Amino acid sequence: VKNIAVLTSGGDAPGMNAAIRSVVRACSYYNLNCFGVYKGYEGLINGEIEPLNARSVRNIINRGGTFLKSARSKAFRTVEGRQKAHDNLKKHNIDALIVIGGDGSFTGALKLSKEFDFPVVGIPGTIDNDINGTDYTIGYDTALNTVVEAIDKIRDTASSHNRLFLIEVMGRDAGDIALNAGIGAGAEEILIPEEDLGVERLLDSLKRSKVSGKTSSIVVVAEGDKSGKNIFELGEYIEEHLQGYEIRVSVLGHIQRGGAPSCYDRVLASKLGVGAVEALMDGKREIMVGIVHKTVTQVPLTTALEKRIHKHDQLIKVADITSV
Ligand code: ATP
Repeated sequence: VKNIAVLTSGGDAPGMNAAIRSVVRACSYYNLNCFGVYKGYEGLINGEIEPLNARSVRNIINRGGTFLKSARSKAFRTVEGRQKAHDNLKKHNIDALIVIGGDGSFTGALKLSKEFDFPVVGIPGTIDNDINGTDYTIGYDTALNTVVEAIDKIRDTASSHNRLFLIEVMGRDAGDIALNAGIGAGAEEILIPEEDLGVERLLDSLKRSKVSGKTSSIVVVAEGDKSGKNIFELGEYIEEHLQGYEIRVSVLGHIQRGGAPSCYDRVLASKLGVGAVEALMDGKREIMVGIVHKTVTQVPLTTALEKRIHKHDQLIKVADITSV
């Protein structure tokens, strides 16, 4: 491998810049040429490709978002779109592609690899931590810290007014953010997609808290929770069935994606960027580089795309015990 391209795709995540920087610098270190593709697969199809050198990526390790920009590309879901993308890669003599993104981005990368026998390597970049085969994804740690900071602030107002706050955090399929930030911020209850605790249990728990002398409460709700109600309906339901609480709903939304990456995410991104380039140099393809027990590992992209087995039992127990 001599010419490597890198792109960021799907939802942006803090630390993506650090990952791009690491890929570019690893290429420079190993005397490989590196190309940046702007706007993810959309830019690949439109030929928005530029050479990058070690100096192109200065002053970005500390910045959130992705300077290469990210996009969701409908065209890349079609064979014709991927054909154009492949043509552009060939035009620049690029012989491998590193994709920083989530499962959708990896699905696209796998198709490109299969259809055109083109080497791809994935780096997990998404705040949700929902990728199989890696303990952590880039952006997750920063998002957790952002969420905890936001909940701390909400707690101040909750306790001043004896209010019950329902706080929605990101996580359509994975409760990692909700569960960990919930414990870290001292939430009363945490609703996650992996477990259907039932609305009645939530009501019981809140009633018990009131009896035990709590005057305000925080309930953290992941986007994909299984209550069957959206967070506003859930708030109304609790208000109807629970006397004496004023309910407020807060949806944290996109602040969770932003901000300067934490040191953990910068280091993780740096390790995975180097790992991706070295994997390609070793002739690896159709793999994702991840982190398992602090070590950079490689798993087939197909494994990365399998449903992750969530082992949240311990954390759920800790959340239950510490909110008593
Ligand atoms: P996040 O976890 O932040 O949502 P993601 O990588 O899963 O990130 P998606 O929007 O699902 O984000 O996917 C990013 C892009 O990958 C899509 O816009 C599309 O171009 C490509 N992609 C996703 N699924 C497929 C597919 N089945 N076939 C081809 N390309 C796909």
